[in-house]
Amino acid sequence: MTNMTDSYAVIGNPIKHSLSPEIFKIFAQQTGQSLVYQKLLAPFDLFNETVKDFQDKGGKGLNVTLPFKGQAFRLATQHNDAARLAQSANTLIFSPQGEITAANTDGVGLIHDIENNHLVKIKDQRILLIGAGGAATGVIAPLLSKTPKNLHIVNRTAEKALALAQRFGQLGEISASGFDGLNGETFDLIINASSASLYGEMVPLSPSVISAHCICYDMVYLPEATVFLQWAQKNGAIQCIDGLGMLVEQAAESFYLWRGIRPETQPVIQQLRK
Ligand code: NDP
Repeated sequence: MTNMTDSYAVIGNPIKHSLSPEIFKIFAQQTGQSLVYQKLLAPFDLFNETVKDFQDKGGKGLNVTLPFKGQAFRLATQHNDAARLAQSANTLIFSPQGEITAANTDGVGLIHDIENNHLVKIKDQRILLIGAGGAATGVIAPLLSKTPKNLHIVNRTAEKALALAQRFGQLGEISASGFDGLNGETFDLIINASSASLYGEMVPLSPSVISAHCICYDMVYLPEATVFLQWAQKNGAIQCIDGLGMLVEQAAESFYLWRGIRPETQPVIQQLRK
């Protein structure tokens, strides 16, 4: 039996603009669960202390966002497979004995959104993944598990992309480069896992990467189309998808890990779009 007022939060810095409290409120209403969910701002140098304080006050779990996913992974004493592969965590689960388990639901969230919500195929596709930070790292293994033809990682700092390709090389067809190393290749699915769109910046990508049937996905969600999705549309992408669906899907997976109940995501996505 869970407590009547189990307490959860999303921890990050900055955290002001997080949609997570709204998402979890709708999940709780929909599933008849009683819980509170807040935003928790952690000072950059006090992440562990802020987590411990929340746990000491009876918190049951945390979602973790920028820039603390790596620290969250290291703080935990137990890790699920997805977190271990990514070496980063977006979900922390506190046991009654005080143990912290790290999970990573970003990959599941992305795959659910791409395959189930947008009916986009990953198998046998040529995929370009932009970025080599926490978000990109968390989705590489789940993407490779769907056996794309190739997954190419491109990043502003090329060394980080190359290191990821090496780290995940055992799991499937994977390659990497900087933006100037793309050599005229085209892709069927381009996923922007960089934070460039958050700052209104376009990554230095040539329109020639867009194939005739290319679908473009930006993990960033903004009320208006991101610069990346505007660029994609202008250059012939047949479908442009933003990160709202992924945000709701990764939250649903966290909710399931905490509460053992999987909420319906479609009504939540529709409600937030309004
Ligand atoms: P990180 O800070 O770990 O990584 C940022 C990445 O973006 C790095 O690869 C960085 O390159 C690159 N980058 C930043 N600015 C630019 C730029 N101007 N031009 C080119 N590349 C740039 O962030 P995360 O990986 O954790 O998150 C990335 C984005 O994904 C965030 O905007 C976040 O909001 C979004 N996200 C969305 C989710 C969803 O559910 N929809 C879930 C998780 C994340 P370099 O290595 O060279 O610095």
